[in-house]
Amino acid sequence: MDCTFLDELNDSQRAAVEFCDGPSLVIAGAGSGKTRVLTYKIAYLLSLGMKPWNILALTFTNKAANEMKQRIGGLVGEEVARYLYMGTFHSIFSRILRVEAERLGYAGNFTIYDESDSRSLIKAIIKEMQLDDKVYKPASVHARISMAKNNLMFPDEYARTRSLIERDAEQKVPAVSAIYSAYCERCKKANAMDFDDLLINTYRLLVSDADIRKKYSERFKYVLVDEYQDTNSVQQKIVWLLAEEHMHVCAVGDDAQSIYAFRGANIDNILDFQKQFAGTRLFKLERNYRSTKRIVQAANSLIRHNERQIPKDIYSCNADGDKLSVKPAYSDREEAIIVCNEIKRIKRADRCGYNDFAVLYRTNSQSRSFEEAMRKVSIPYKIYGGLSFYQRKEIKDVIAYFRLVVNPDDEEAFKRIINYPKRGIGDSTVAKIAAVASANGVSLWRVICEPALYGFNPSKATLTKLDAFRCLISSFIEKFVTVDAYALGVEVVKASGISADIYQDKTPENIARQENVEELLGSIQEFVEGRKEEGRADEVHLTDFLQEVSLQTDLESDDGADGERVSLMTVHSAKGLEFPVVFVVGLEENIFPSSLSMGSRRELEEERRLLYVAITRAERHCILTYAKNRYRYGKVEMESPSRFLTDISPEFVDVEDAKDIFMRATSSYSSRGSLFSSDNRWQNSRPVASQFKADPKPREAVHRDVPPVSDTFSPRFRRLQAAASSAVSAKKSMANSSQVKENSVIEHERFGIGTVIRLEGVGENTKATVQFKNAGVKQLLLKFARFKVI
Ligand code: ATP
Ligand code: MG
Repeated sequence: MDCTFLDELNDSQRAAVEFCDGPSLVIAGAGSGKTRVLTYKIAYLLSLGMKPWNILALTFTNKAANEMKQRIGGLVGEEVARYLYMGTFHSIFSRILRVEAERLGYAGNFTIYDESDSRSLIKAIIKEMQLDDKVYKPASVHARISMAKNNLMFPDEYARTRSLIERDAEQKVPAVSAIYSAYCERCKKANAMDFDDLLINTYRLLVSDADIRKKYSERFKYVLVDEYQDTNSVQQKIVWLLAEEHMHVCAVGDDAQSIYAFRGANIDNILDFQKQFAGTRLFKLERNYRSTKRIVQAANSLIRHNERQIPKDIYSCNADGDKLSVKPAYSDREEAIIVCNEIKRIKRADRCGYNDFAVLYRTNSQSRSFEEAMRKVSIPYKIYGGLSFYQRKEIKDVIAYFRLVVNPDDEEAFKRIINYPKRGIGDSTVAKIAAVASANGVSLWRVICEPALYGFNPSKATLTKLDAFRCLISSFIEKFVTVDAYALGVEVVKASGISADIYQDKTPENIARQENVEELLGSIQEFVEGRKEEGRADEVHLTDFLQEVSLQTDLESDDGADGERVSLMTVHSAKGLEFPVVFVVGLEENIFPSSLSMGSRRELEEERRLLYVAITRAERHCILTYAKNRYRYGKVEMESPSRFLTDISPEFVDVEDAKDIFMRATSSYSSRGSLFSSDNRWQNSRPVASQFKADPKPREAVHRDVPPVSDTFSPRFRRLQAAASSAVSAKKSMANSSQVKENSVIEHERFGIGTVIRLEGVGENTKATVQFKNAGVKQLLLKFARFKVI
């Protein structure tokens, strides 16, 4: 068969593709063609006569599998590519398990339980065993079970393992073992497998049945794995069981891109591969084809700060390109505006489309400000690997409370929250209320307000619960015209029990929910303050806020004229992808690196690898942004630029405001009442966190084996930092003793730098029209505006 496509590879890639006689491992940096090697190797195997159904290719995402399949189709024809076994571990093995289910005691039509199914089953078991669900939190019990499963520790063995039993006893959860056992039995009885089962049942199948193992090892004559650095130990064992016999296995990966330690992946995977498969041929690829020289050099200079890594030097022969640009913003809002402005500018300058842009953030909750800014300026976008902010469950729940407060007859909102958080009002009660409501032609709310009037006579217990709910909502209704949306929002989250529900533990899912709810509250506060500044202090109530967001909840952002959209996603979901223009946003201490990662050097190194992944997604332009002020935990936090910004060698970055990176946030703004007082209102605003958080996140990172940030700077940077801070204090005192005039340049908390172009009115009610550098023209009522004159 024609193999001319091999000419599209460089020598090292070609060598890796053509080596098919034994195990091989390709370790190489980002963008060096690892995925391309896998793709071409499959095409090559096919051209040698191997049948597509004899090739198993495991990828990290389904998206990656589809792209690879398409590319292979292009090289050898779609009708052949169609029969390849190509997909994620979970998708491929669920197919195999369907066929072999009976051997494991399942029927072939087994159900796959997702996270929430598993969680609610565990919850039910805890209840049936009459355990306290405040001690046995379903999410953390599930995490323990999942961890045990992934370590191939099955219930019997768990119950026999003294160290685990003792640990559980010590942590006052001795029944975990029994819950685990019951959970497995119940799943089995329901003919259901959870996500972990898809992997471990495959493993069990292969390990316990020699015939089956032989069958699949003969079926899959060649096994290929992309992103090997992020496989966990069960996945590795499966690869071993399938390939041990024939040793036809090829794994590709990059230790510098290992970013799933929290799911059990291990940076040593790649090294273990060589031990496991004796005689592995190792290939290294060093040329990056994706990015400009400067992007590659900048990424190299960053990752060099990690101790745990396999040394490699990646180079690019592409154009030099621009330096990475670092753009500070005054606030998360200005950050989003800057990103939108840059997208428009680069789109014009490079004549490219919206598809060429990606905005990458550390956590999903950061998407909100970008969604909002893009909607305002009609930039079409798509959120990958997650829901749009207002579609997320916890946000919909809170908004449903708001809707019910503003309009108690809102049926959907009523149904959504009548029993969330759980207050013992079952579906059948709700169905009865609905029936009574419909028979009387009134809303569900009216029925629970006057049940007897409408002939609704539930048990006394139910009546009490319904009345408690009515009182709760009524108490909010009483306030909603007097109290502003933010104050009421905080109260709703607290009094409804939502905060107790989402702050019950620190599972990754709950942390994400907390971040989202905090982001929502932050946005309400910003909304309230923005309205006051605009002189619209009477439009700060829940109705006004809902009016604003209802436009955002229903609308999916429209496609651009050509169906193109900017991609918004977390860095984790960007793995393996590439875009001509990449924005990495929120580069601040406690965000990126995440505040949860500051405990150890090991975790910090993972965060640094994550930034390495982010930067190396960029082909032509890479823009890094951070905000100096950010609404978090219900107040404006002064943020410090990420320590990683100083890891990147200065010769590869253009910093808009260089001194900034090296200084801790020290600026101060005028506050309500007096333009020039030093009293800093927003810093003093009550933090949401302390109002309802069971377990507040540490604001100051605890450094154990990592020196404090300031100590990690070189003496030169520290001098710069000191100089910058004194410059700021000088400015501050000047600001406090001067007056706003036309042409004054001001620094606004959220909109950044601007020039006063007009002043109207007198005293208290002076209104300034300000032309901001990035945020456009705004009118501000000076008594509420938060800024300083510079
Ligand atoms: P990552 O580490 O991000 O997963 P990777 O090592 O898998 O990256 P690829 O995605 O395979 O890299 O390749 C990066 C880009 O470079 C792709 O657009 C690919 O098509 C291109 N590329 C790789 N090798 C060559 C080559 N020899 N000639 C032309 N383009 C190439
Ligand atoms: Mg790849």
